[in-house]
Amino acid sequence: MSPLLLKPVFKERIWGGRQLEQMGYHLPDGNIGECWGISAHVNGPSEIINGPYKGQTLDQVWSLHPEIFGNPSEKKFPLLTKILDANDKLSVQVHPNDAYAYEVENGEYGKTECWYVIDAIEDAEIIYGTYANTKEQLKSYIENEDWNHLFKSVKVEKGDFFYVPAGTVHAIGKGIMILETQQNSDTTYRIYDYDRTDKDGNKRELHIDKSIDVITVGAQSPNVPSKRIDNDEQKGLLLIESEYFTVTKWQIEGTFNFRKPRDYCLVSVIDGSGEIITDGNINQVSKGDHLILTSDDLDNHINGQLEVIISYV
Ligand code: ZN
Repeated sequence: MSPLLLKPVFKERIWGGRQLEQMGYHLPDGNIGECWGISAHVNGPSEIINGPYKGQTLDQVWSLHPEIFGNPSEKKFPLLTKILDANDKLSVQVHPNDAYAYEVENGEYGKTECWYVIDAIEDAEIIYGTYANTKEQLKSYIENEDWNHLFKSVKVEKGDFFYVPAGTVHAIGKGIMILETQQNSDTTYRIYDYDRTDKDGNKRELHIDKSIDVITVGAQSPNVPSKRIDNDEQKGLLLIESEYFTVTKWQIEGTFNFRKPRDYCLVSVIDGSGEIITDGNINQVSKGDHLILTSDDLDNHINGQLEVIISYV
């Protein structure tokens, strides 16, 4: 067969810009902050643009044709892949875990996420974790708006990777483009938004009580070092292997005979171009393309000069 090729969904954001054009996208007007590349979320599902499922959305195909995903036990598609352009810093935020989201957010998934830095300006920074060691300390820093004692800043550069489990305080800083792999959830609790206002003069809502409930205090950095998984004369990196997702990055020059580790795998091209040859069918791909290899795709080769992120559950 051929992989499911997906049409990206774009989202305007207060902190967005136009840098996603660099990924080859034709953007709608405005400050575009997010490209939802592989999404079955109700707030922006991907449409399939080729093959027998053309015109259907990923959530529809997931529920109508579970056999092409190996008849999974999950009711909802588990992952969401986005590319974010932070033209300005994002709000400082935290996400709940599965148990909390299920109870408080009407059966939503929690949100553990991770970031691969596609590009960053010099001296770019993120907020990643908190200095608070106890919930009491956390509450007092928040009450006193003592942000410098609360938020840990970390310098980032192109090629860095961050694992952001539910409960981790975080914010992407100005001038950073990332590919985010996350659980399929849209639940965010904002702790601080720099007192910014939108074009109508309104501040965005904060969620202080829920944030205090879910923030992990006194924790070490949750980041884990990447591991080399070179294969087939191609350079591979295992970025993270967690209970929610495994994310790998491949730098391909020539032909990569890709053996799918699961029934279905999510593929995003983050640089270069080439072709994906699936059971003899050739699909041209280039920077910014997103697709899913399903259990109908048996014999897969990626050919060309390109960098891809491949993720799976
Ligand atoms: Zn987040």
